This record gives sequence, structure tokens and C-alpha cells, in this order.
Amino acid sequence: MSLRRIFSTNGLVKLICSLPVVLIVLYFLPALGVVMVIARYFIYGERHFFRTPVVLMLAGLILLVPRGLQLATENFNLGFTIPYLSDILNFELYPKLADYGQFILIVGIVVLIVSYLLKSFISGLSNNIRSMMSQYASTKQAEEIEIRKENDLKLREKEITSKQKTPHAVKCPHCGKTNSITGTVGKCKSCRSAIEYKGK
Ligand SMILES: [Zn+2]
Repeated sequence: MSLRRIFSTNGLVKLICSLPVVLIVLYFLPALGVVMVIARYFIYGERHFFRTPVVLMLAGLILLVPRGLQLATENFNLGFTIPYLSDILNFELYPKLADYGQFILIVGIVVLIVSYLLKSFISGLSNNIRSMMSQYASTKQAEEIEIRKENDLKLREKEITSKQKTPHAVKCPHCGKTNSITGTVGKCKSCRSAIEYKGK
């Protein structure tokens, strides 16, 4: 069982590193939150590659909406007031929340860029390895075919030479003496006439 499998099947680890918990931790303990964001990549691997940074960016943007509207009303004359905007802006916790929104937006952007680069790097690497392996396999195959061909040739040569060298008993058609000849043709030892091994 791989480490990733143990983490991803462990409910407690999953709960601790779930996005809502990570968002809360990012608020109170930013450094630990960032560690948890990175840990999510080890737990979920490629499956949720872009989910974490996108959620962080969206949450950050939502929290920054009132501040953005404040900037807009200050710089442009909108001609109307946005309801509840001043209430939200005067809410004593809002500056902290806006800072937090800015922080997770930046974390989201950085994580998105890094995960994209990492993903393309990993896929490029695995493509390279795959092509290298297939190249290796095809050379190996070609080598094996070459070796088999060579072996076949050697075997055939051996067969031919062994056929030629095996002595055959041939009865002379003239004097009737049995001669032993290697190869297919020879001479009778007693009458010196040509004899031939006709094979089977
Ligand atoms: Zn003879």
C-alpha cells in the first residue's frame, strides 16, 4: 500500500485536509495552512489538481468584493450607494477578512502556477520515459530477431555440413561391393567406377 493510498483512504486525514478546514487554518495559522494545501497534493494526487487553487482564488475574490466596491465608489461617481456596503466595511472584522482574502488569492495563484508547471513537467517526463521505453523495446526486439536469424543460419549450415560429412553405405552397381562414402558422390574402392548416394 502506497503512502498516498493510506492518506487518501484515511477519513481523519481527509477531514483535516478538507478545503473548509484548510480555509479556516489559513486564516488563523497561514503557514500551517499553506503546508496543508501542499499536503492535499500528496493525498489527492492529480485528481484534484486545479480544484484547491481555484477554490482558494474564488474565496479570496469573494472576500475582496466589498473592498473592491469601496475603491470603485471612492474613485468613480457611481451616482448611487450600494446597500450594506458601509455596514460591511465598518464591520470590525472586515479589514482582517479582506487581508485574509488577499492572502488566499495570492496563495491560490501561486499554487495554480506551480501545479500547472509541475503537471506539465511530470507529463513531459512520463512521455519521455514512455518513448524511451518503447524505443528500447523495439531495439531489443530487432536485436532478438537478428540473433534468431543468425542462429537459424548457423543451424542450417550445421545441418548441411553434417549431411555432407555423414558416411553413407553405397552398394557398387558394377562389382557389388559396399562402399562407405561421405557426401553424395564417390568412387568404388575395388573397381574404381563412380558411385552415387541417392539418399532417402
Ligand atoms: Zn565396384
